[in-house]
Amino acid sequence: MNEPFLSAKPIIQKLEEQSFEAYFVGGSVRDYLLNRSIADVDIATSATPEEVKSIFPVTVDTGIEHGTVLVIYNGKGYEVTTFRTETEYIDHRRPETVKFIRSLTEDLKRRDFTMNAIAMNIHGEIIDPFHGRLALQNRMIECVGNANERFQEDALRMMRAIRFVSQLNFSLENETKIAIKANAQLLQHIAVERIFQECTKLFQGKNKNQAIQFLYECNLWNYLPELKNHQDLLPCFQKWEINHLSEKQVWLLLLFLSKTNNPTGFLKSWRMPTKKISYLSKALFFLHKRLKEEWTIYSHYQATKEISIDVESVYQMIQNQSGENIEQKISEIFLSMPIQKPEEMKVTGADLMLWFDRPGGPWIKRALEMIEKAILQKKVSNEKGAIKGWILTCNLQQEKDC
Ligand code: ATP
Ligand code: MG
Repeated sequence: MNEPFLSAKPIIQKLEEQSFEAYFVGGSVRDYLLNRSIADVDIATSATPEEVKSIFPVTVDTGIEHGTVLVIYNGKGYEVTTFRTETEYIDHRRPETVKFIRSLTEDLKRRDFTMNAIAMNIHGEIIDPFHGRLALQNRMIECVGNANERFQEDALRMMRAIRFVSQLNFSLENETKIAIKANAQLLQHIAVERIFQECTKLFQGKNKNQAIQFLYECNLWNYLPELKNHQDLLPCFQKWEINHLSEKQVWLLLLFLSKTNNPTGFLKSWRMPTKKISYLSKALFFLHKRLKEEWTIYSHYQATKEISIDVESVYQMIQNQSGENIEQKISEIFLSMPIQKPEEMKVTGADLMLWFDRPGGPWIKRALEMIEKAILQKKVSNEKGAIKGWILTCNLQQEKDC
């Protein structure tokens, strides 16, 4: 056993000292068995939340109604969750209330996929009543119990299945796949925010092409915001290998393929955070520009380095070009620029008002833009004195390029 399990081991030991059972469970055990890096360990225990709180001096009630207590130990937080069953599923969503139990097997039984229903004790011994290790060996995503019932209980599990396809490069076990197809319409009951989270993980995964193929095959695509109106995109994903694209680049590609003229509206219906919406709307603008013309130093500068890289990566892919070393090439272009963003200019609107002895107004913006371009074209160096000398010779009224 290695980190992060080793640091969490004393928590399980303390619970065991008090005669409770406790195990590592869920994603951390799955990823450990797959030799993947592990973000956080989850601990499941027979102790109730109150019992957990009485054992550890510092805890936080992060999700106590679901049985989860955050135990702070050695300056780090560990989620400790009481064994539980989820009985009352209403509207195909996970229940608000749960029932605490003392049986590990029952707790593992309520989990979504066999690979996520494996427990490990502090000696590294595996408890695997639903043959999750076999599923891991076969690289299969398979429901615990009856797939049809499991998706009817909680429809989000269908999206989780497909994002694991992308993240782990796994396939869908046949019965699981058939059940997703049969229940796809239940996705309507799930909050868009949660679907968005799963799609984000899907787009971050390494097997996006296969996952998107499954979204189509299983009819889930029909229930995704905005994309439901785009049944025609599948051939694109069969034609283009998108596995190397970043998550943001996939969103940019989707915006482009959807032909939307309202990217903000498109992304808002996904409940995407506003900052990301602005970023992607700007990137879409530059992608359209790129399709019409080559980059210039000024357009790279306006776009920013990050957007330039994202736009060029998507552009090269839709043009069926190799797209090699895009990041390196664009980074070099930015390194060669005298300034990379407006804040780096050594002149402000206040300087201009002083030099020209004029009150503020739209002319300031125009003048700053002229200076910006001149600096980028290396007509003038980015020094106050040089800029002053240069701008005073310009005819600002006529917006003449000096
Ligand atoms: P990730 O690596 O993305 O965190 P994960 O499998 O750990 O993947 P979590 O959302 O952290 O996913 O959930 C932890 C565990 O809780 C899962 O491994 C699974 O056992 C269980 N679980 C999570 N969501 C569900 C669900 N909708 N239905 C049943 N069990 C679930
Ligand atoms: Mg997890």
